[in-house]
Amino acid sequence: MDCLFCSILEGAIPSQKVYEDENVYAFRDINPQAPVHVLVIPKEHIPSADAVSAVNSGKVAAVFEAIPKIAKECGLEQGYRVITNVGEHGCQSVKHLHFHVLGGKQLSEKMD
Ligand code: AMP
Repeated sequence: MDCLFCSILEGAIPSQKVYEDENVYAFRDINPQAPVHVLVIPKEHIPSADAVSAVNSGKVAAVFEAIPKIAKECGLEQGYRVITNVGEHGCQSVKHLHFHVLGGKQLSEKMD
């Protein structure tokens, strides 16, 4: 399967690692939209939030257990935003479930 984030996990494509555990990997977005912009992914290939089920939701829970640790490590004590894009209308460009963690400044109230 040709997946950019699986290639990053394999080390075939370099990334700026922020966090890693048994189930989760986090790295700096190559095109940051905020002073802190980290992508947090499950190591298991899940195509998007639309593919989460009882079979793989434990891997998603592991991502959310990691996010507070990543936020602390990145100095986001004043808050942050967690976003996942899904499909064409959601502007998902990489088909491996990932959560954008954005912060380091006052973010806009606008969500779209
Ligand atoms: P999305 O549009 O929600 O699918 O988000 C994909 C994100 O992956 C975008 O914010 C890209 O900037 C980011 N991205 C693409 N290629 C890389 C890469 N090689 N390393 C880090 N981030 C990347």
